[in-house]
Amino acid sequence: MKLLITRPMTDAVMERARTEFDAEIRKETSPLTPDEMQRALTEFDVVMPTLGDLFSAQVFADVSDPRCKLLANFGVGYNHIDVDAASASGIAVTNTPGAVTDATADIAMTLLLTTARRVGEGERIVRAGGWHGWHPAQMLGHHVTGKRVGIVGMGRIGQAIARRCHFGFSMQVAYQSRSAKELEFPAEFVPDLSALAASVDFLVLAVPGGAETQHLINAPVLEAMNPNTLLINIARGEVVDEAALIAALQSGQIAGAGLDVYEFEPKVPQALIDMENVTLCPHLGTATEEVRTDMGYLALDNVAAFIAGRALLTPV
Ligand code: NAP
Repeated sequence: MKLLITRPMTDAVMERARTEFDAEIRKETSPLTPDEMQRALTEFDVVMPTLGDLFSAQVFADVSDPRCKLLANFGVGYNHIDVDAASASGIAVTNTPGAVTDATADIAMTLLLTTARRVGEGERIVRAGGWHGWHPAQMLGHHVTGKRVGIVGMGRIGQAIARRCHFGFSMQVAYQSRSAKELEFPAEFVPDLSALAASVDFLVLAVPGGAETQHLINAPVLEAMNPNTLLINIARGEVVDEAALIAALQSGQIAGAGLDVYEFEPKVPQALIDMENVTLCPHLGTATEEVRTDMGYLALDNVAAFIAGRALLTPV
């Protein structure tokens, strides 16, 4: 059984992969090219792909009798894989839910606080030697404690964000999701996205990417937001119409944004870079040693289950 891992991983994950499997670990940190994806499907039994490895319907169509039977995705988000096309080619797909939840919620809170309290802007001023001392009206930001947060996508990560907001910051939580949830903290279900957007101080996105959520946050939703609201996106870049977001920020329709993901990642529009009221992170959601190791181990657990003929742990 030959396994291809499409990126270097943490040392712990690479060591376990080499010990337990006949593993080839690609050295490049960039996404697979179309030729590499074809090789992955024809020369390996299992592939561990990740974000950016665009396994589209065309890639599966180009390989008539794939040797590969499992794509053990490294990451909970799998919108880069056409799961229906994979399934039609006899290839199962797994992901790594749970392992990513707390770290991603932490980054959501980091972006919310950093943007609200103008931390990035302040840091840039200090580093540039431009700080001339405290005064009562210096760099006034948005208060966070007790404010109303709207969470779009009340799944594992959405709930972890909501818990932090409720228990940590005494915030009122409202949310939109495909269905209402039973939660262990108070939260108002607002099924209409624009109504939710219009009623909150912070709108935080935690839905999966893919066709169903593409441009969920579009010009009409941004127009519904009030000029004091901040948008936080830790979901996927394409969930937000980036051009509409830039227009809303430039016109002052919304107060600012904290972004971990971008519509055409890793391309970040200069217009966003130029705005002080926007916090820009390079997709840091799960970027800690422990979490990336847990994600890798879960992906490898799926590989081990597949090879042993056992049920997959986290199929999608
Ligand atoms: P999850 O548990 O499946 O939760 C997703 C939630 O989104 C569910 O509550 C679902 O609603 C809701 N949803 C799905 N489609 C929707 C739609 N069209 N409109 C409104 N709500 C919708 O997934 P998760 O583990 O929380 O992860 C969420 C996403 O975060 C991932 O798919 C990934 O793209 C992203 N993520 C980003 C990072 C990062 O590094 N920035 C890290 C990890 C994950 P129902 O429950 O009602 O069906």
